[in-house]
Amino acid sequence: MLLDLKALTGPREHLERTYPVSAFDATGDFTIGAPVRLSCDVEKIRDCYRLVGGLVTRLCVSCSRCVEPCEMALDVTFDLRYVEQALNIGVGEAEIDDDDLSTAFYCDDQIDLGKLIREQLYLGLPMKILCQRHCRGLCVVCGANLNVAGCKCSVEWRDPRLAALKELLAGKTVKERE
Ligand SMILES: [Zn+2]
Ligand SMILES: [Zn+2]
Repeated sequence: MLLDLKALTGPREHLERTYPVSAFDATGDFTIGAPVRLSCDVEKIRDCYRLVGGLVTRLCVSCSRCVEPCEMALDVTFDLRYVEQALNIGVGEAEIDDDDLSTAFYCDDQIDLGKLIREQLYLGLPMKILCQRHCRGLCVVCGANLNVAGCKCSVEWRDPRLAALKELLAGKTVKERE
């Protein structure tokens, strides 16, 4: 999954690539559920290369609430500046702005597109993934998947943070009574 920069013919080139699911190792956070379609423009600007484009795929993840496996479409766009790694050695952080998140590195006249894709997939992954918009999650008492069946536990303080608050409030009330 390397992009050979020496093979680029013009100052700007369009790139369309599709990678099969098997090209990616499984990660702890998701597995790739459909071929990854990468589409971007590569532009040479002095010693740097600017890659502007996007990628589309499907990810198999687990729902943040009920932990059931679910699939989500992912469509991310990026605008990255690639700086040659060697140019940066010894210069430390001075050359690259700390908060310039869109800077990446290349070496040996190659850009690692596999790394680019993995990073973009992580960035595109939402903080909270739900199998359905109104996923009811798991019962904190018995662990039942509440989307599938109800349970007989009290539903009043299902949120553990609220339960902790309730305990605090209860303790306070007892003290006040003493
Ligand atoms: Zn769910
Ligand atoms: Zn329950």
